[in-house]
Amino acid sequence: MIKPSRPDNEEQRLQALLRYQVLDTPAERSFDDLVTIATALCGTRMGAVTLVDRDRQWFKARRALDVPQTTREISFCGHAILQPDQVMVVEDAREDPRFFDNPIVVDDPHIRFYAGAPLLSFEGLPLGTLCVFDAAPGQLSPERLQALSALSRQVSLVMELRRYAHEIQQHMSERAWYEQRLSEYNTLLERQNADLAEQSRTDALTGLPNRRAMGAFLDAALHDANGAPRAVSVALLDIDHFKNVNDLYGHASGDHVLAELGRLLRATFAGGGMAARHGGEEFVVVMPDTPLSVAEMQCEFLRVAAADLPLGIPLTVSIGVAAHREGDTAEQTLARADAALYRAKREGRNRVVPAE
Ligand code: GH3
Ligand code: MG
Ligand code: MG
Repeated sequence: MIKPSRPDNEEQRLQALLRYQVLDTPAERSFDDLVTIATALCGTRMGAVTLVDRDRQWFKARRALDVPQTTREISFCGHAILQPDQVMVVEDAREDPRFFDNPIVVDDPHIRFYAGAPLLSFEGLPLGTLCVFDAAPGQLSPERLQALSALSRQVSLVMELRRYAHEIQQHMSERAWYEQRLSEYNTLLERQNADLAEQSRTDALTGLPNRRAMGAFLDAALHDANGAPRAVSVALLDIDHFKNVNDLYGHASGDHVLAELGRLLRATFAGGGMAARHGGEEFVVVMPDTPLSVAEMQCEFLRVAAADLPLGIPLTVSIGVAAHREGDTAEQTLARADAALYRAKREGRNRVVPAE
């Protein structure tokens, strides 16, 4: 017996074979059918699609053959792939020096006739064979040889299609995976955007809306749903001598005072209107549907409540309050409230002054 040698391109060949991911997979109808056609064509009892692995031949399809694989050493196909461009025919293995004492010739399945057409990868590397064999010696007419060769190309084609199908499947599942990641990422971004939008409208220290949010609220409050003007009052509140609070009690205490005053403002105007931090130790209150006299009373209440805050630090505030005048801009009304606040400071602080 002569063991099959290894082709020069053996490593490349094995790489190509592995890329098909076909070794040790279950039987498939299309391969079985081609083996059935091959054996019928050649009039043999047995046939197989064999793939030549590093040290074994493995049968992707087999007919009248019990074992799923044999060692490469005793394989006929190991020889057949050495000449990839032709069908190897052994008319009587007992007469062939390569096979006469081969265990699959001497013992089961007692092979005597063999014809194997190499299966080529698309780059031309031999992967195995489509082979037919029998326990009786035999021959193949040139037409049948040609037909067996043609069938082997069909086997190669099925291998190729099978690989494409797997690749497509793989791409689809990878795509699904990426789409899932993308959608999670989008959700995260949306959440972050929502956080950012919230942050851009909220003052971090007091949790009150900031000046920008107040501006939008005031613009919207100046008119009702039909565009008709509404009676809106605006108050500007500034802590008196707040610099002293920082200087005497420290900046952290100053922050605490701002946060507590913020809480009072929010609670006072929770039912209607909006209290916002205008900046520094200055707050602004927008009171929709509130005439000046009522707004003044609310500010007076606020001034007293601020002085009563249990802070352990004396706290007074000055407030300027203005009713929006039809035809004025929001900025003009704020400016009038600011002028009133300035007067409150000048007149001795700790008071509410209505704008003129
Ligand atoms: P007036 O009665 O004239 O308003 O006197 P004032 O000291 O309150 O006014 P001034 O504008 O001189 O000082 C405001 C102080 O407010 C100065 C600044 O350090 C302080 N301040 C502004 N923002 C913050 C803050 O977020 N935290 C603290 N702790 N202090 C602040
Ligand atoms: Mg100030
Ligand atoms: Mg101040």
